[in-house]
Amino acid sequence: MVTTQHTCAKCGSEQIYRNGHSGGHARYRCNGCGHQARFVPAAAERAARYAQVEKLLAERTSQRSIVRVTGVSRMTVAKLAKKSAASQPSTATPTLKKGAAKAVGSA
Ligand SMILES: [Zn+2]
Repeated sequence: MVTTQHTCAKCGSEQIYRNGHSGGHARYRCNGCGHQARFVPAAAERAARYAQVEKLLAERTSQRSIVRVTGVSRMTVAKLAKKSAASQPSTATPTLKKGAAKAVGSA
């Protein structure tokens, strides 16, 4: 029998408990963050992988190497990069204006 590790899909905490069920799936409630959801084993795995992606993004690893390491699609990595950039305004990245970076030769 396959045993799945029950972790919170939001914060990854193992402090979760069954809280009824919905749609034929067990519902759980997280003790750590109070997140309440249906237990989907894939969701916890995905959350762990996304957390790894965000960690690598914080280390300024290139998006393509993150794709190679984690197996997450590049569009997802780009989405997470945008999200983490928006949530951390402290890492003041200079905003590139369209076309201002490089002059186009053939005008
Ligand atoms: Zn949680």
